[in-house]
Amino acid sequence: MGEVMVHLRGVRKSFGDNEVLRGVDLEVRAGEVVVVLGPSGSGKSTLLRTINHLEKVDAGLVTVDGELIGYRRRGDRLHELREREVLRQRTHIGFVFQNFNLFPHLTVLENVVEAPVSALRRPVARARDQARRLLARVGLSDKEDAYPRHLSGGQQQRVAIARALALEPKVLLFDEPTSALDPELVGEVLDVIKDLARSGTTMVVVTHEVGFAREVADTVVFLDGGAVVEQGPPARVLDDPRHPRTRAFLSKVL
Ligand code: ADP
Ligand code: MG
Repeated sequence: MGEVMVHLRGVRKSFGDNEVLRGVDLEVRAGEVVVVLGPSGSGKSTLLRTINHLEKVDAGLVTVDGELIGYRRRGDRLHELREREVLRQRTHIGFVFQNFNLFPHLTVLENVVEAPVSALRRPVARARDQARRLLARVGLSDKEDAYPRHLSGGQQQRVAIARALALEPKVLLFDEPTSALDPELVGEVLDVIKDLARSGTTMVVVTHEVGFAREVADTVVFLDGGAVVEQGPPARVLDDPRHPRTRAFLSKVL
């Protein structure tokens, strides 16, 4: 495993009186796959969203590849970055959502080409070549001219993954990528994520798929009530959970 790619230190976040993250520390190394498990409402989505500054933290710091996210340090004070700079930072942080979020009026190929051309100013021809390679990788070469509404949920999610990869992100974040899928479509999406894991993509995956966590994660993090209550290799956390909260959770999902 390489150097620290994503680092959260003492991250706190409240919505009104609801303290959703209560001082989260997390390290993700280059090439590492971290799977985040935890009950509904434990702060998993909020945690992911702080990594690309979709949520501003109330306290603590997030860095990606050593770069402070959302802020600039001036003396000993932090100043929030302008929107433009936040958007630049986000181009290095891929995000795959539960509901795919493809552009409905664009074809599959156009969905994958869009960000590299508009955000990175890549020449269209080059972006297309890359998009075709990525679509082949997720097994959708024959769908490049289709519109999202003509694809299954599993196919749409694979396009969303290709689209995220097109920006060659430093880290890829997944928020329950298979939760919106019919059960028979879950496997094809997990297989793509497994393939990325094997090729050394740095990933943080929020999921309820414990089998996937066991097979693919380098580290499993169990979040409960906005705090990391347990983390470690999957065999340790999943087969020999130390914390009663982890045990209670696993007994429900297994
Ligand atoms: P999880 O992904 O683990 O289910 P979330 O991070 O989505 O948990 O939510 C954690 C808590 O934060 C929940 O109580 C949720 O209602 C609350 N929450 C999340 N986003 C917002 C928001 N934008 N405004 C107010 N409350 C929110
Ligand atoms: Mg969530």
